[in-house]
Amino acid sequence: MNKPVLLPLDEALQQLLGFISGNITDEWLSTFDADGRVLAEDVFSKIEVPGFDNSAMDGYAFNHSDFLNNHGILKAGQRIPAGYFPEKLMAGHADRIFTGAPVPQGADTVVMQEDCEILDDGSVKILSQPALGQCIRFKGEDIALHTKALSRGLRLHPAALGLAASIGMSELKVTAKPKVALFSTGDELVMPGEVEPEKMKPGAIFNSNRFFLKTLLIRLGCTVTDFGILPDQLAKTKESFSQASASHDLILTSGGVSVGEEDHVKPAIQALGRLDLWSLAIKPGKPFAYGQVLTGNKTTHFIGLPGNPVSSLITFLLLAKPFILKLQGATDLNTVGFEMRADFAWPKADKRREFLRVKRNSQGGLDLFHNQSSGVLTSAVWADGIVDNPAGNVIKPGDQVSFISFSHWMS
Ligand code: AMP
Ligand code: MG
Repeated sequence: MNKPVLLPLDEALQQLLGFISGNITDEWLSTFDADGRVLAEDVFSKIEVPGFDNSAMDGYAFNHSDFLNNHGILKAGQRIPAGYFPEKLMAGHADRIFTGAPVPQGADTVVMQEDCEILDDGSVKILSQPALGQCIRFKGEDIALHTKALSRGLRLHPAALGLAASIGMSELKVTAKPKVALFSTGDELVMPGEVEPEKMKPGAIFNSNRFFLKTLLIRLGCTVTDFGILPDQLAKTKESFSQASASHDLILTSGGVSVGEEDHVKPAIQALGRLDLWSLAIKPGKPFAYGQVLTGNKTTHFIGLPGNPVSSLITFLLLAKPFILKLQGATDLNTVGFEMRADFAWPKADKRREFLRVKRNSQGGLDLFHNQSSGVLTSAVWADGIVDNPAGNVIKPGDQVSFISFSHWMS
């Protein structure tokens, strides 16, 4: 058999994302429930934030020229707690003010209470040299009127929900959750709980991919239907995909995408629509498939991940994750790495781009897991991220490498 041409990852990703077209449906959701969802429209603010000049400190508000003219000693004025609208500041006075309370008209400076002394006659002595305008949060300094506070395509996160609330949005228009049908393939697979671990038949293994794939899909905002394990049979595989395609946006499988006789995913999808089988120039994770199941005028996407657990995990993160984010209309699809120091050697260059499982150490460098095999899931648990090592690159201790943390990548 001819060796397939290896496809660079960036090209594969570009092609994959190019298969997504058409409108994305949306829905209104309570802001409380919108974490992780993608904004379907820009959100403009109908108000300024803050809505009024307010104090950043518990202290005293006064007019800066009064301070200069009265040598720092001012008469005690009104008391202004948060939520209260004050009278105008009287000339030569300092008003007692609390954090978040409106600065009275006429005042232009606030000093924190620690820098003030109350004299016997009740007047306020300012002990520091205040700068004009200090300790005031000015009207509109965070968000100006009618400006865009949040952009369409943003994957909402806790701070964004807080910002939406700060401009009065109790509901947000978000894109629909993609409906994903998840399949594992392979006659060797057994579900944990079905058989006591010590009583496994020779040749059988527990289905591990199903657990992390389902979890990752849920984290990415998908509604998942878990169709369980497909036997290595063409007819059954075809029937199950055909059934799932009716009510799902994406069919995701692991295993069965190599070109062995026991790999039935490929012919099944080919019979139902079309399939591209790729040999990716990455390690782990060489075999990868994208296809479409066509029923009437409905197109259901198909992604076939490799079966080896680490390959499955890494290809999901590299390709399926951005695909699923784009299905939801997200604009930021990339997970960027940052430079870190390798405290290990990787002396053998590979012609494929490698994703090495590593862990940050307390000296600010990266340690390498001793076994980088694509079947060793322990590597991905010990590690807290990967090094994205370009094809043909050897690593010497002390070299700068590109690190992607799992906590960032898997969220
Ligand atoms: P395949 O691509 O189907 O030939 O599978 C490649 C390797 O991954 C084989 O060793 C399979 O037993 C293993 N594998 C496939 N699916 C799973 C799964 N769901 N959980 C754990 N290992 C799997
Ligand atoms: Mg298999």
